Amino acid sequence: MTTTVPPPAIRALPRSAEAFDAARAVIPGGVNSPVRAFRGVGGTPVFVDHATGAHLSDLDGNTYLDYVLSWGPMILGHAHPEVIEAVVEAARNGTSFGAPTRGETALAERIVALVPGAEQVRLVSSGTEATMSALRLARAATGRDRIVKFAGCYHGHADLLLVQAGSGVATFGLPDSPGVPRGATADTLVAPFNDLTAVADLFASYPEQIAAVIVEPIAGNMGMVLPEDGFLAGLRDLTREHGTLLIFDEVMTGFRVAPGGASAWSGITADLVTLGKVVGGGFPLAAYAGPESIMRHVAPVGAMYQGGTLSGNPVATAAGRATLDVLGRPGVFDDIVRLTDRLIDGIDTAARDAGVDVQTARAGAMGGFFMNPAPVRNYDDARRSDTAAYAAVFHRLLSQGVYIAPSQFELLFLSAAHTDEDIDRTVAAFGVAFDAVGSAV
Ligand SMILES: *Cc1c(COP(=O)(O)O)cnc(C)c1O
Repeated sequence: MTTTVPPPAIRALPRSAEAFDAARAVIPGGVNSPVRAFRGVGGTPVFVDHATGAHLSDLDGNTYLDYVLSWGPMILGHAHPEVIEAVVEAARNGTSFGAPTRGETALAERIVALVPGAEQVRLVSSGTEATMSALRLARAATGRDRIVKFAGCYHGHADLLLVQAGSGVATFGLPDSPGVPRGATADTLVAPFNDLTAVADLFASYPEQIAAVIVEPIAGNMGMVLPEDGFLAGLRDLTREHGTLLIFDEVMTGFRVAPGGASAWSGITADLVTLGKVVGGGFPLAAYAGPESIMRHVAPVGAMYQGGTLSGNPVATAAGRATLDVLGRPGVFDDIVRLTDRLIDGIDTAARDAGVDVQTARAGAMGGFFMNPAPVRNYDDARRSDTAAYAAVFHRLLSQGVYIAPSQFELLFLSAAHTDEDIDRTVAAFGVAFDAVGSAV
């Protein structure tokens, strides 16, 4: 979409700029994950000095209200005292053993208690590893090779999942990135999000060949796109009918859209669930979980190999346990949801007042907005959003001390550390940003 929005008001961040230059000399693009480089909005990435609660401080001495929260994990806010205490205590006892600890069982027990359908859990170190392993398990358990994913859903960077969206039509996947061999994605089929007919067509075209359908039950990596009524239930019915496993990738939605994740939020129980982000409390920890009847295929009980030197790391499991414990206290989760509702309502009102077209979505403690005049129900719709207008809003928020994701295709995350005052300030900042964008149209 073309736009008449003026270039974003980018503020100078001299120390961050200097740090970015030094980083670029020794790290590709200066970052260890691409979206951090601000390519989506322009300008210098904010280099973080420290963060506490809802606040992030940069090298230039600016402090921001943080709505990125490490892209989701920090649901209690940064450096929560109880999490830090648990981490320090665990570290004092040694930081990795390559031998089992009771802490791993305790975290697995909490996951089993919270997540519908989870009877057994395998801990890994990243969301990428969790989805890759869950798909290997689905293939091992069904004896089939093909998988279905949805355009615009992100499941980490394993070869088999780096598949480009088809043009609205379910199609054979082509590799999204150089370096991914054609063979690695040859069995990956792609359908549009919210399109049950396309999924049914794939089942008709590839009878008894599809091992798994993997989906972000509430999409969060193309911006926020809710499943339409009946979409997840329809996937549940189709997969059951065809002997295919349904995998909910809850790396983002887990413990965030509801204490039991999107399975609890939707009432639909998948065969396998992948978790990450919140479950590690800010440490590299993720998981996949399901019924014993499927998990028994995993080695050493079964023949499907999957392991990791740092899997179930004692410091990470301590952080995850402490995070879930605090989150489970009466009122803690509900209050984050209440603040999320206030923020999204405020964004809706500010956009209407400024005469700017915005589409918002929310679920639990997760929300998002598209600079888009039309409803967004899939990746093609999301891509029609006005990314230049988003960049303008981003920089006008940043200059008011509000840090949102440096990309239109990400979310707003809230934490237990955000307050009503923070929301008021943020909504006012959105008002200023939308006014600037609106007056330019
Ligand atoms: C972040 C994310 C991943 C990847 O997790 P990493 O820990 O970054 O590897 C996978 N799936 C979803 C839905 C995610 O949001």
